[in-house]
Amino acid sequence: MSQSFDVVVIGAGPAGYVAAIRAAQNGLKSACIDEWKNRDGSTAFGGTCLNAGCIPSKALLESSELYHRAHAEFASHGIRIEHASMDIAKMQARKSGIVKQLTSGIAALFKANGVTGLQGHGRMLGAGRVEYTPHGGSPGLIETRSVILASGSAPIELKAVPFDGKDVVDSWGALEFVEVPKRVGVIGGGVIGLELGSVWKRLGAEVTVIEALDQFLYMVDQQIAKEALRHFKRQGLDVRLGAKVTASRRGTEGITLDYADANGTHSITVDKVIVAVGRRPYTQDLFGPDAGVRLDQRGFIEVDHECRTNVPNVWAVGDAVRGPMLAHKGSEEGVMVADLIAGQVAEVNYEVIPSVIYTAPEIAWTGRTEEQLKQDGVAYKVGSFNFAANGRAKALEQAAGLVKVIASAEDDRILGVHIVGPMAGELIAEAVLAMEFSASAEDLQRTIHAHPTLSEAMHEAALAADKRALHAINK
Ligand SMILES: Cc1cc2nc3c(=O)[nH]c(=O)nc-3n(C[C@H](O)[C@H](O)[C@H](O)COP(=O)(O)OP(=O)(O)OC[C@H]3O[C@@H](n4cnc5c(N)ncnc54)[C@H](O)[C@@H]3O)c2cc1C
Repeated sequence: MSQSFDVVVIGAGPAGYVAAIRAAQNGLKSACIDEWKNRDGSTAFGGTCLNAGCIPSKALLESSELYHRAHAEFASHGIRIEHASMDIAKMQARKSGIVKQLTSGIAALFKANGVTGLQGHGRMLGAGRVEYTPHGGSPGLIETRSVILASGSAPIELKAVPFDGKDVVDSWGALEFVEVPKRVGVIGGGVIGLELGSVWKRLGAEVTVIEALDQFLYMVDQQIAKEALRHFKRQGLDVRLGAKVTASRRGTEGITLDYADANGTHSITVDKVIVAVGRRPYTQDLFGPDAGVRLDQRGFIEVDHECRTNVPNVWAVGDAVRGPMLAHKGSEEGVMVADLIAGQVAEVNYEVIPSVIYTAPEIAWTGRTEEQLKQDGVAYKVGSFNFAANGRAKALEQAAGLVKVIASAEDDRILGVHIVGPMAGELIAEAVLAMEFSASAEDLQRTIHAHPTLSEAMHEAALAADKRALHAINK
């Protein structure tokens, strides 16, 4: 006999599991199917984000940053450590422990909210019908009023540098090295490449980042991107821009990557290669022959602004649909869809999605960059404030970087906020909230910020937009 639900979600990453929980909170009988398997064959909810992305990468970034600071910064605090050494196995075990706690937490949340969590493969057969095959079991039919597709994304492989699962790896593999490689080549200088490159650089590897585009972090406000690059170079990260990898080969000395740039062809030899050239939507075996769900030219599930597919009562969210591949964007889409299915009013404000790069210094932004505003012909004013003049940043020994607030020259509304510096990922939340409520630069100026905190840099940058900064010379 088939089971029946109001909502069946396929995929339990941050888009899918959040959708399932919210649907249940809305009184809908919901199930969430997920096929994730870890390297050891164990199953876990949480998708890429919890098992192989956001969480394990941040765990290792923190450990590697502490190790780096113990060597490079503690002495300036007057703390002498004679023999700071590293135990990679323990670092990795800590990371795995955090992942396990969080993924088990999702199973507990499912239980508490009355979501039926199903581990195995899900396939949409047609509107109202989903096939579920438990791991090691045989397929069964589930009937449902609504389907939410949240199948996520997978890393893109380069023909010239095929993965071997050991020395040429994707981002997941790069989180699992058991010792610090001497030389690491990172192909792709985007968010994931920079974060993973940073981990191994801070732990002592020589890291070369090879990026095909001429521009560093093209999607980031270029003043911020340039400032970040300056710091990364000073830390010894070797970033080669406008460089396209054309071939790879294995020899006795390691793996040689050939690449071409404006000056000709070159090669480097490394011990490990991390391929981080982007991710593609993952929809493998997601649809039965009669599903009828349309994909776009790049393989994303086609949806409207409310995440409806072309098939009635079938929705899609997260990395599998257009928009930035970010966990919180997927989660918000999941919430919106679960609310819409329940007949409520809901929307996602795609204009103010925060983005964070967890390097040191961190980079974070929301809204439009100066380059975009110029291109759109919008009249704007800019205020910026350097962390070098912020007391808390000084006390933290992390005074690199700045906050930049861009507001409309006509009505003062905040159009974008861009940060490179300590805790940028936390600081950007204030800007997101301000923009969500259509705040003006003056609203931020008149908001009291605790002293001494990093958030005072946001306050001062807003003041600077009207040449009223109190702790910097207004130009
Ligand atoms: C190294 C790395 C670091 C990252 N760091 C961040 C970060 O700091 N912040 C951030 O916002 N984003 C980060 N991301 C991106 C983030 O992980 C993704 O945006 C997010 O996981 C997308 O969520 P999702 O639910 O759409 O898909 P996923 O998390 O990919 O989950 C999809 C799930 O669906 C399952 N599935 C697929 N097809 C089926 C099927 N037919 N049947 C059953 N199950 C199926 C998959 O097994 C998977 O478990 C990072 C990514 C990587 C790789």
